[in-house]
Amino acid sequence: MKIVLDHLTKQFISRHNKNEIVTAVNDFSFEIPDGKLIGLLGPSGCGKSTTLNLICGLEQATEGKIYFGDLDVTNLPPENRGVGMVFQNYALYPHLTVRENIVFPLENFKGENRLSRQEMDDKALEVAKLVQIDQLMERRPSELSGGQQQRVAIARALVKTPGVLLLDEPLSNLDARLRLQTREQIRRIQKETGITTIFVTHDQEEAMSISDYIVLMKDGLMQQMGKPQEVYDNPDNLFVAKFLGTPAINVFEGKVVDHKLYIGEDYVMDKDIDDQEVYVGVRPEGFIPSKDGKLICKYDRMETTGRDTSVICHNDYCISDEDIRTIIDDDDPIENDNGIIRFNLKPHKTYIFSKEDEKVL
Ligand code: ADP
Ligand code: MG
Repeated sequence: MKIVLDHLTKQFISRHNKNEIVTAVNDFSFEIPDGKLIGLLGPSGCGKSTTLNLICGLEQATEGKIYFGDLDVTNLPPENRGVGMVFQNYALYPHLTVRENIVFPLENFKGENRLSRQEMDDKALEVAKLVQIDQLMERRPSELSGGQQQRVAIARALVKTPGVLLLDEPLSNLDARLRLQTREQIRRIQKETGITTIFVTHDQEEAMSISDYIVLMKDGLMQQMGKPQEVYDNPDNLFVAKFLGTPAINVFEGKVVDHKLYIGEDYVMDKDIDDQEVYVGVRPEGFIPSKDGKLICKYDRMETTGRDTSVICHNDYCISDEDIRTIIDDDDPIENDNGIIRFNLKPHKTYIFSKEDEKVL
C-alpha cells in the first residue's frame, strides 16, 4: 500500500506553557512507495512519534491529508485503517501466553468476520513462524528475552494482515547484540510480507542499514528523503550531513576567495562558489595524509579498531564537538612531522555549506 502525507501539520498546546503552541509536525509531505521499508530518522522530540500516530489515527491532524493508496484516511478511526503498530515497550499482556497475546486482536472480530478458535490459532501460528517464535507459544512474556518479546509484539501487529506496519523505536529496549539481530529479523519479515513499513529510530546506523529510503526530520520539518547511500553522499544541508555517519563528519570554519577554498589560512582546494564565509564538512574517509598536504593539523593520537586506522588531530578552525577524526586507507602512509600532520582532502568527500541557511552550496 502506497502512503501519501500531504502537507500534514500537527500542533499541540505545549505541555509546559498553556499559552504556547508546539508544532510537532510541520507541513510534512512525502510519498512512500508500496512495499518499501522507510526509516524515519531524527533527534528526540523532532516529531517522529507524532507522525506515526497521525498515520495510524491515534492523533488527528491539525491540517493536511493522509492517503493509503487512493483512499483518504485522514478522518478514519484507527481500527478502520488496517495498520499494525509496534512500540518501544512491547506492551504485551503479562498474564496471557504468547499465543493468547498474538490472538488477542482477532478476538473482537464481529459478525461475518468472526473467526473460529481453530482459525485464530492457525493465523497465530503462521505469524509466529514468520517471526520465529513458534516454539514459545505457551510461554508467558516474563519467560522470554527482550528480543523475543518484541517479536511477539510484531507478530501481534501482523496477525490482522495490515496494509501498513508502523514501528516506533522498536529496538530501543534491547541490548546491542539483540538490536542487531532483531533489526535483521525486521528486514527479513518486511521483505517476506511486502508490507509497507515505517520504522522510526533516532539511530542513524540502524535506519541506514535496513531502510530502502530514509526520511530525516528536525523540529517537525522534513529535511531530506532518499536512499540511505544517496543521502549520505549528497546531504542537502549541514544538519543532514552531521546526522548521518559514524564517526561524524568534521566541520570547519572556512571561506571562499577567488574560487579558492580556505580553512583558516590553508588553501585546500578550488571551488566554483562566490566569495563568502562557509562551513566546510569533510567526511572522516575524506582525508589523505601527504607530505605536501594542504590542510595542516596537530597530531594527537592514532586509534585502530581492527578494520580502520583512525588519526585524531587538531585544527583551530574545526568546530565539531571533538577533534578531527579521520579514517585513513591502509596504503596511505602517515607522515608525522614533529607533531604536524598534513592532509589533502578528497573533493567528493568535502561539502560546502552556506553560513546563512546551512544549505549545501
Ligand atoms: P519524537 O518521537 O521524535 O521524539 P514526538 O513526536 O514525541 O517526538 O514529539 C514532538 C514534539 O511534540 C515534542 O516537542 C513533544 O514535546 C511534543 N508533543 C508530542 N505529543 C504531545 C502532546 N500530546 N501534547 C503536547 N505536546 C506534545
Ligand atoms: Mg518518539
